[in-house]
Amino acid sequence: MPSQETPAIILSVRDYGEADRLVTFLTPVRGRLTGIAKHARRSKKRFAHCLEPLSRVTLFLSDRAKGELEFLEKGESVRSFPSLRRDLARLGAGALLAELAGEMASPPEATADLFAALETALTLLEEGAPPDSLLPGFLLHLVKLGGYGLSLDRCQKCGLEPQPPLVVNLPRGGVLCGACGRGAPGPLVAVNPGAWKLLRLAQGLPPEKLSRLRFPPEQRRQSLTLLRLFIRHHLGRDLKSWTFWDKVVKGDLTRSH
Ligand SMILES: [Zn+2]
Repeated sequence: MPSQETPAIILSVRDYGEADRLVTFLTPVRGRLTGIAKHARRSKKRFAHCLEPLSRVTLFLSDRAKGELEFLEKGESVRSFPSLRRDLARLGAGALLAELAGEMASPPEATADLFAALETALTLLEEGAPPDSLLPGFLLHLVKLGGYGLSLDRCQKCGLEPQPPLVVNLPRGGVLCGACGRGAPGPLVAVNPGAWKLLRLAQGLPPEKLSRLRFPPEQRRQSLTLLRLFIRHHLGRDLKSWTFWDKVVKGDLTRSH
């Protein structure tokens, strides 16, 4: 009998043994979990359209959890985001945000907000919001929910409106005037005033309004570089999904697939 029903967003799925699948998913209460879907490769019925990364589903977990692993009894699809899947840039942005939300929700803190933010991002991408403008704002929002907010309003040293050339101190997560940053322990990353303004605006908006912002190419490039380095600094490694995003940006992947 199913004993525990939970909303979930599927983060990754891989084959496990002869017949099973190993599923990692985000939940609003318990954060990121991994479980075994027994016989999921043979019997599609219990998990019909459920075990695709980025799907919003309802999972039924057995209380016969095995060590760190949950047992997935069955699943029901809630939303599969078909339009998002048909576009590689939207898929790439969704994959990055899902991976980051999973990292920020482990250990589980602020998981309900992380879950809601990721679901909002996937919904906006599904509805056609431009992925490259959506990505910086949501990355920023997710790291903030994970406890690594960037302090962008005032220079961390002089306390005034920061004066260009601007730099961001990665360990302390704050902006500095170029002059104030001289000699500061780094690493420091340069950011142009346009990108700084957009990121500051993004940080002040609720997630459902982030699709209103448009990041022009240079601002987007700088914002994503900064966020990528900031996330790498805190996780100790890059998010894996950047590999796919880089290919999308370079146009290595064809638009039809
Ligand atoms: Zn300053």
